[in-house]
This record gives sequence, C-alpha cells and structure tokens, in this order.
Amino acid sequence: MTDFNRSEEHQMIVKGLRSFIEKDVLPLDEENKKYLEDERARLNEDGSLVPEFKRVIQQVRRSSAKLGYYAMHMPAEIGGGAINRVGIALAYKEVFRYGPGLNVFTLSGAEGPSPMLLQLSQPQQEKFLKPLIRGEISTCFGLTEPEAGSDIKNLKTKAERKGDSYVLNGMKTFISNAADADFAQVFAVTDPKTYKEQGYMGVTAFIVERDRPGFQVGKITRSIIDDGGQAELIFENCRVPAENVIGQEGTGFYTAMGWLGIGRLNIASMSIGLAHYLIERCVEYATQRTAFGKPISKYQHIRGMLAESAAELYAAEQMLLHAAWKMDQGDSIIQESSMVKWYATNMLFRLADRAVQIHGAMGLMKELPIERVFRTARVLRIVEGTDEIQKETIAKSLGL
Ligand SMILES: Cc1cc2nc3c(=O)[nH]c(=O)nc-3n(C[C@H](O)[C@H](O)[C@H](O)COP(=O)(O)OP(=O)(O)OC[C@H]3O[C@@H](n4cnc5c(N)ncnc54)[C@H](O)[C@@H]3O)c2cc1C
Repeated sequence: MTDFNRSEEHQMIVKGLRSFIEKDVLPLDEENKKYLEDERARLNEDGSLVPEFKRVIQQVRRSSAKLGYYAMHMPAEIGGGAINRVGIALAYKEVFRYGPGLNVFTLSGAEGPSPMLLQLSQPQQEKFLKPLIRGEISTCFGLTEPEAGSDIKNLKTKAERKGDSYVLNGMKTFISNAADADFAQVFAVTDPKTYKEQGYMGVTAFIVERDRPGFQVGKITRSIIDDGGQAELIFENCRVPAENVIGQEGTGFYTAMGWLGIGRLNIASMSIGLAHYLIERCVEYATQRTAFGKPISKYQHIRGMLAESAAELYAAEQMLLHAAWKMDQGDSIIQESSMVKWYATNMLFRLADRAVQIHGAMGLMKELPIERVFRTARVLRIVEGTDEIQKETIAKSLGL
C-alpha cells in the first residue's frame, strides 16, 4: 500500500495551509467573533449572510486564491494548482482540522470553480471561470428541484431552443450560495423524449447570470447550520444565449454526475478533518474536567468512546486516501466514492454524538463549537447524495 502522506509536495501544501490559516485566517475569526459565535447575528432577517460577513469570507477566498490554495484542484493552464486527488483530500482534511470557523472558506466548494466549467469556450472561461479561480466572484450548483432530489430523473425545469438562445422555465430548490452567486449553473431538460426514455440523456447544463431577465432568486430556506441559506432559483421565460451551454447539449446529467463524484470525496475529507478536530477537543476536555475527584479521561466509558472514535477515524481516513489514490491512477471509483462518503459522514456523526456526551451540558451550549459540528455532521449525511442513495450505488456495484 502506498504511503500517501510521504509526498514532499503534499507535505508542503499541508504546511503552507497551516501557516496561512494560523497567521491570516484565525485572527480574522477573532476580529469577527460577533458573527461566528452568535449564529443569528451574522444573518439577515431572510437568512442570507450580512454584508460585513460576506466581505470577510471574500477576503479569505481571495487571499487563499492568491496563495494558490483556493483553486488547487483546477489545471495549471487556467491558473489552478493541478494538485492530484490525494493532495486535495489531505488539504480538505487539514483545513477542517481547525474546526468550523472561517478556515472552512479557504478551499472551494459548490460556490467555487469546478472542472465542469472547463468545457466552456475560451471567451466564456475568461468571463466566468477565471474570476472564480481568483476568488473574485462566486457561483452555485442548481440541480435539485421540489420533485427531484435523489430522484434526479424527474427534473421539470425545461429549456427550449429558440434561434441562437434557449428559453428556461422551472425552479430549483435548496441551492447553496444561490442568494450571493454571480451566476448559477443550472440543469434543464432540453430533449424531453430522450430524457423520458433514457433518463440520463436529454439534460443540458447552462450558465445563468444573476441579472439575466426572467431569472430571480426565490425564497431562502434556512437549515440547521444557518450557513447563509439555501435558496430557490426561479426561471420564467428566461432567455439564455447558446454560448452559455456548459459542454454538449443533452449531456448535462453526465457533467453533473462527474462533479458529484468529486464532491463525495471532498465531503468525506471534510468529515475526517472535523473528526480530528473533535477528538482533539475531547481529549483536552476529558483531561481537564474532573468528576468524583478525578479527570473524566480516567473513566473507562469515556476512554472507550475516544478509543472507538480514533479507530473509526483511522478506518475512514485510509478508505478516503485509497479511493483518492485510485482516482489518481485513472481508475473508476463509483463504488468507492459512495462507500467513503457514506462511511466518513456516518463516522463523523457518531463521533459528534460522543463528543457532545463527553462534554456533558457544555457540549450542547453555543459557547463551544461542539454542537455546531454535531449539526454539520447531520447535514453531511444528506448533501451530495443521502446515506440511502450511497448504499443503493454500492448495492448496484455488487450486481444487485
Ligand atoms: C444544506 C443543504 C445544501 C444543499 N445544497 C444544494 C446545492 O447547492 N445544489 C443542489 O442541487 N442541491 C442542494 N441540496 C439538495 C440536496 O442535494 C438534496 O436534499 C438531496 O439530494 C436529497 O434530496 P431530497 O431532499 O429531495 O430528499 P428525497 O430525495 O426526497 O429523499 C427523502 C428520503 O428518501 C430516501 N430515498 C429517496 N430515494 C430513495 C431510493 N431510491 N432508495 C432508498 N431511499 C431513497 C432518501 O435517502 C431520503 O432519506 C442541498 C441540501 C441541503 C440540506
């Protein structure tokens, strides 16, 4: 088995990220404590982020982009870091080891550059992709609809070709960063007959700019992590030029699936980073908190919880690195990405529950970040494919 951590390049990335987070990002956490500690103080009435907090997030993204971290997963020719999947997995893990603070904006998620945008023409890449890579603008990924969450073969949003444009009608829901995105990446049915017959073909991906007539951001829904809200995207006779098509007409679903596969590994890396963070907090707390005259770390129940957590974390980390390494060899990881996403998010959920238990009442209080990680862990079992969808994919890979 390869020793994944030994590459010099990977060690340099991890070291550089640590130094960036500790010197430039964590001090911002201190300065902006009022937003980070009191969830509601950093949100507007409708659940969107307040402008001051958005500015801080953008500051983190831009500095990270300048240092080459934010777009490290993108090719070098367009300003990315060309880092392989093992490197990306280690980087996400390292960033989330610092917990749920401003550090989480150091690397890109659905709001940042994705390999799917490499399919744009050169002029469109200049307009949309390069500013994303520089952290100057943000986007969102609009796939889910009210009647199409897991069941992605039930999309109702349609795009009809009219001359040199397409006319979009329909709606998306639960879209992260929708309220702030400069443009949305939207999936719409362009060939209803093929889509009905084949399910995977007949869907096209489009870029829709936020000021395009016929497009508006609808209601913002707030989740248990209050991260600025998930919003609806509403299209009413929204005319989009054909040059805004991402990739080939009718193949958008494959474009989306490619991105989701990578997203699954990223979610697993985040879970593993947060699990490290929790174990460190629990060891600290259990050593200094006393009950019945001795530190709670001396009690077998507490020791057992931490021992199980460490072993489960080790298993998840090896699974992740192996899947990332396989992807770097050019192998298909359809089965592995589902296994790792399911295992790592459930591992984090179990660890977060134990972390609350070990901290007692303090584990449930807003003063400590433990309860926030607990809420985040619950979300990670739904996004990028639910537990059940991952298990369905694994079952299919077994020939069932
Ligand atoms: C915080 C947050 C952020 C999000 N951000 C985005 C985003 O940026 N872009 C985007 O497009 N979407 C986003 N989503 C939506 C997310 O991708 C969907 O919520 C997810 O795919 C599940 O769809 P659903 O909520 O409609 O649940 P459903 O599909 O309605 O599922 C309900 C339940 O039924 C189960 N189920 C469904 N089908 C099967 C089956 N075949 N076998 C067994 N069980 C099944 C599910 O596992 C689940 O337990 C976000 C969601 C959240 C909570």
